[in-house]
Amino acid sequence: MKRVLSFLFFAITVWTSSAQDIVVDDRLQPLLDEFLKICNKYDIDYDEKLSKLESIDIVDTLPTQEHGTTLGMLRRDSNGEVVAIDINWMAQIDPDILKVIAFHEFAHYFLEYSTHICDDCGKIMAIVNTSYFEVVSDWDNQLRILFEESPAFQRKFNGSIATEHNEAP
Ligand SMILES: [Zn+2]
Repeated sequence: MKRVLSFLFFAITVWTSSAQDIVVDDRLQPLLDEFLKICNKYDIDYDEKLSKLESIDIVDTLPTQEHGTTLGMLRRDSNGEVVAIDINWMAQIDPDILKVIAFHEFAHYFLEYSTHICDDCGKIMAIVNTSYFEVVSDWDNQLRILFEESPAFQRKFNGSIATEHNEAP
């Protein structure tokens, strides 16, 4: 019994020390869980990417001017590596907006969208969305487009070469 206990203790110690130190805001955790579940469905790996992040957080440091509000952003270090996913606190004004913004930023990172697909076409990866509610009302279809057309998915299943990450989201 003692041996079992000490093994258990050892296992827990190893597990906790290798666990990621990533900080995920409680309000974003359910959205992240939902997103990663769909990654599993599409067989898209995310463990390594997740381990490189410091935080997925709601912040008050993004610009909020009338014509220049950034609702979400991938934060990079001096080497250009993504270290955090920042979501503007203003996105919390509505759960639907928060969901679309969070999935948009998650997709930039985990699905490797280095660019947007259009200016304002009512899709999750548009530069802006005039109506977040329309996007959410068509959610399952939106998710299918988001994942199936993503660079990560295309690369995995069509063998095409990933596009360069040369444009900041
Ligand atoms: Zn973007």
